[in-house]
Amino acid sequence: MNKETGQKVPFTEENLAMCMCPRCPVQTESQCVNEKLDKMAEAVKAAGKGRIPKPGEVPAVYCSAGVAGCKDLDFSQMCICGSCSVWHQYNLVSGKPVYYFCRDGKAH
Ligand code: SF4
Ligand code: SF4
Repeated sequence: MNKETGQKVPFTEENLAMCMCPRCPVQTESQCVNEKLDKMAEAVKAAGKGRIPKPGEVPAVYCSAGVAGCKDLDFSQMCICGSCSVWHQYNLVSGKPVYYFCRDGKAH
């Protein structure tokens, strides 16, 4: 836990790159998520490398950003955070919530 920000997982380019959420079955059928991903890809292309999106702009790293802005997610599907390097690096198995940060909020 970072004492200054109260944030367990920081929203960084590295964590964004490792995040598995864009490939998660909970999200893949979401029109809202797919629109956000398309917009992000365009923005990155336009701005070039090094542009870090704001939390909420990108449907990912919910363990840092908190509950998803998109409301058409399918929670009958399995959360795949357990296969993510960020999840292991920050030992999220011992925190709360353990999975489904997009539904239950950021890790703490
Ligand atoms: S632990 Fe889950 S929410 Fe956090 S970066 Fe990994 S896949 Fe994304
Ligand atoms: S937090 Fe878990 S359930 Fe939600 S999109 Fe990321 S991997 Fe899927």
